[in-house]
Amino acid sequence: MKTPRPCVFFDRDGIVNAPPPGGARYIERVEDFRIYPDFLDALRIVNARGYEAVIVTNQKGVAKGLVKEAALMAMHSHLYTTVLQHGLRLLDIRISTTADNAHPSRKPNPGMLLGAAADHGLDLARSWMIGDHDYDVEAGRRAGCRTVFVGAGEMPGADFIVPDMPALVKFLDAQLERV
Ligand SMILES: [Mg+2]
Repeated sequence: MKTPRPCVFFDRDGIVNAPPPGGARYIERVEDFRIYPDFLDALRIVNARGYEAVIVTNQKGVAKGLVKEAALMAMHSHLYTTVLQHGLRLLDIRISTTADNAHPSRKPNPGMLLGAAADHGLDLARSWMIGDHDYDVEAGRRAGCRTVFVGAGEMPGADFIVPDMPALVKFLDAQLERV
């Protein structure tokens, strides 16, 4: 049997890519999907230290009819292409499109992390969850992962807090053990 591998789970909007433009709730067009260079730097460290990388994203805009599935697929196709062009690896992108807050897949519920762990053989206890909202931290905590909150201010429940994406890159470089 394959040994379960540790993983770094990333939230999407605000971590992988810039948040929706102009205060919008959702990114609706691939043209507005702008990948952070700092995310690619973070992913490079994650890959080099031997971790899998999985994105877990709430996209309730799909259920509300504001985001087309095809647009979401175009964004993620662009993301996979960019990752490959940089010589990096991304194992999976998990999307929760439901508007039901009680749904097990919708963060802060840990369903996307648990599902990825079951499908790919991931060791959640040695994994990390990185996000910019309390529900990211909570989902990671409920899945049994260590958690990093990226943002200003306090975040009760987070194991670590860094102010922004450049600080996250520095944090991972300093703290992510090789596995
Ligand atoms: Mg976010």
